[in-house]
Amino acid sequence: MNVATIKYYDVANGPGVRVSLYVSGCRNRCKGCFNKETWDFNYGRPFSKEDEDAILKGMEPDYIKGFSLLGGDPFEPENQLALVEFMERLKAAYPNKTVWAYTGYDFERDLLTGKKGDIDVTMRLLKCIDVLVDGRFVEELKNPNLLFRGSSNQRIILVRQSLERDEVVKLVAFTPRLYIRAFNLCDEAALFDILGDKDTMKYVEPPFDRKRTAEWLKGFCMAEGNAYAVEHRESGKLVGYVMCKPAGADRRELGWIFHRDCLRQGYAFEAVSAVIDHVFAELGVFEVTASAVECNEASIALMRKLGMKFTGSEKEGQTLLMSYAKNKGNK
Ligand code: SF4
Repeated sequence: MNVATIKYYDVANGPGVRVSLYVSGCRNRCKGCFNKETWDFNYGRPFSKEDEDAILKGMEPDYIKGFSLLGGDPFEPENQLALVEFMERLKAAYPNKTVWAYTGYDFERDLLTGKKGDIDVTMRLLKCIDVLVDGRFVEELKNPNLLFRGSSNQRIILVRQSLERDEVVKLVAFTPRLYIRAFNLCDEAALFDILGDKDTMKYVEPPFDRKRTAEWLKGFCMAEGNAYAVEHRESGKLVGYVMCKPAGADRRELGWIFHRDCLRQGYAFEAVSAVIDHVFAELGVFEVTASAVECNEASIALMRKLGMKFTGSEKEGQTLLMSYAKNKGNK
């Protein structure tokens, strides 16, 4: 395998400062590819043992948050073969630094079926990767505001979670402690633990039973895509639920419910801030709104902390429903 470039201080291809390896060779030939010279498997120079050692050494400083693998396409069969042992070495040396990889191929259709090389090699390589950005670059869907990808068809996939749950777990946003991701069927029990709790739901509506949780998960959260799961990165636990429901072409209605054991730790502020940044930057949203009953002081304080401004109130039963909003550009 040839290497096109190695960067020891890369901030463009994953979170934080990273070491990046650009391999040569790609058969995808996407129109508008930013890296055409790397289509040629002979571009650059052979990837050597010295390169491997230099990358591992370059990963040492604490400020290096992870490693990114891109190209070219690291999932071309010959590149997988050349990379797999090195990647296992890298992951063993730095288990707490994240590995991001980019491929023009499709995670389920091309990689998990073994269409792109020996399935055992592909799976070994995937197990070294935390986050995979998959799919061809589509020039018509190009959006410079997207998080760590070029076109909106490309997905950011949490690999370990997807392999464990046997369904694709798509990442929407992240913070140092949390992943904000799409909901999956495997979330049902954990979601019930949140929505089925009487105290947690006291300002929202009566607690959900198991059947209603399952229907809510499948319909509102997954099919309609109206809510995101908030997962604690270190433990993998579902700590919260953030509603992000379209309310017009450029407006989203937000709401949040966090597990009773995860209150007063700043998770809600962290997660909802990331969701707001995501919808403003990536979805063309201009305004987010949220509301809470007057006595829900914690939610009202959070709306203020998020920079949302009071827009009005209306009577709801015996209490007042307080509404807040924030526009893009308002800090
Ligand atoms: S997969 Fe990446 S490197 Fe390959 S053609 Fe598409 S954009 Fe270019």
